[in-house]
Amino acid sequence: MSHEYIKVSRGEKVRVTCLRCGRCCHGPNVSLTAFDICRVANFLGVDWRGLRGRYVKAVIADVVPIPVLQSVNGVCAFLVMRDKPTCTIYSARPMRCRLYPFLSYSPARPDLIYLDECCGGVGIGEPEDPPWTLLSQYHVELKLHYTKLYQLIFEGGYEPLQALEGLIDEVCAQARSEQRSSSFLGYATAERRK
Ligand code: SF4
Ligand code: SF4
Repeated sequence: MSHEYIKVSRGEKVRVTCLRCGRCCHGPNVSLTAFDICRVANFLGVDWRGLRGRYVKAVIADVVPIPVLQSVNGVCAFLVMRDKPTCTIYSARPMRCRLYPFLSYSPARPDLIYLDECCGGVGIGEPEDPPWTLLSQYHVELKLHYTKLYQLIFEGGYEPLQALEGLIDEVCAQARSEQRSSSFLGYATAERRK
């Protein structure tokens, strides 16, 4: 799939309506933060380690491990076919899924956001603001994730995967101990599965 990203500035409105075609869940290539992983684990009521392999894997880029969604036959492991393609963790889906078809331009440029023209819902519906608040929350989590990960690897001397797992353990434990998961874990807790 070729991608044509449109740069959108704060103040511009765009027309986007999700058609639930599921296209963005095919070969999703969605990178995650520790916060995403803890929200999903909390939503499913499992320890995050239960997601490893089947739903989440780490790709090593040089010495930096990047957690990503696992796919099965080219489709996200969380997608099922019902009347329409359906995300089984919809209310706890990762930030990048939540933002799509918008993508981060740069954490250093919170006034810009990309819009992926490949999404069939672009150009449909009423003009609206892009999800600036969500983008800002994503950047906060992204910065916390990579700052800590780099510390563990480059200053703490941890092996990359060990550092990533330690980071996720810490984020999940912090969320539990602070007992403020409704804000820390975002959207997942209110709609936790029975
Ligand atoms: S590709 Fe666009 S329209 Fe299709 S499911 Fe994803 S966001 Fe919705
Ligand atoms: S987590 Fe949900 S929204 Fe994200 S790629 Fe997977 S099925 Fe799609």
